[in-house]
Amino acid sequence: MCLPFKVNIGNFLEAAARGADTVVMAGGAGPCRLGFYATSQREILRDLGIDLKMLVLEPPKNSVWELGGILAPLTNGATTVKVVRNLHFAFVLCKALDKLERALSELRAVQVTPAACDAVWEKALHLFGQVRDMSHLRQTEHQVTELLSKVQRRDTAEPLRVALVGEIYVVIEPSVNLHLERRLGDMGVAVLRSTYVSDWISAHLIPNPRALLYARNLRNKARPYLRGFVGGHGLETVGKSVIYGEQNVDGIIQVMPLTCMPEIVAQSVLPTISQHFGVPIMTLVFDEHSGEAGLQTRLEAFVDMMHMRKRTVKRGVVSGSKAVLRY
Ligand code: SF4
Repeated sequence: MCLPFKVNIGNFLEAAARGADTVVMAGGAGPCRLGFYATSQREILRDLGIDLKMLVLEPPKNSVWELGGILAPLTNGATTVKVVRNLHFAFVLCKALDKLERALSELRAVQVTPAACDAVWEKALHLFGQVRDMSHLRQTEHQVTELLSKVQRRDTAEPLRVALVGEIYVVIEPSVNLHLERRLGDMGVAVLRSTYVSDWISAHLIPNPRALLYARNLRNKARPYLRGFVGGHGLETVGKSVIYGEQNVDGIIQVMPLTCMPEIVAQSVLPTISQHFGVPIMTLVFDEHSGEAGLQTRLEAFVDMMHMRKRTVKRGVVSGSKAVLRY
């Protein structure tokens, strides 16, 4: 079974130990294992004698209101207006945190004091954790912007820019990807993460024209390399790699759990994208046995290679695509 499934089970057990009686789980359908997650997890919890009710959020077929029906047992009799207002507030809060993470992923590459960005993140988490309404949220955002502006930046040439694509859970969860963004940032590399939690919510739970247009654009970008949906985020990985290739990033890192079927399909076409756009692409596979030392060594080698390639391309010795073939 793939890694996110196992981590979820661990999360559920921890939550149950801390007194939770219900879990809300993202559902899904398609040619990979995600569609089996909730059902299998429910069985496992039952076998373990853990009494957790599981509410599964399947992508709505007709209207977003279908989600309301699933979440109804959690509302404690609150009015629809109050529930919608609170969900909206949670979404805006999530967006604010994602915006901060996005800024930190780039800022970490030029911070003067090691761990200055991590300190901002910890402080911001504490501040956002106290927020209970919109006006307080706006004030906190100002406070956090202040904190960000106080981070001393190195006055250097442009840092390397690396895009992070792949299976969503490994992309967004630092404890699963062994704090990949932090490691790259500490090596002076700015990270462009391809997806955030709020992106997933707006694309899958809140039907909106912008998300539909973006999805269509991704499919168009991926079409020369991969024509159909392959489950999970395989198609997105290909489409986003093409977009990052067009943006001339210095490198792309694909991350995935061991045996993730959609990402294995995407991985098989990434070398072609690498050649077409002259961008180095590395794949990192994670499971519960992944070691930090091995990851660090591979990252250092990849970053060294990108530095050499950038210098070579700058001197005009070879074109971008040949530089990739050479290294
Ligand atoms: S996308 Fe990959 S990791 Fe996620 S459920 Fe499917 S096979 Fe497992």
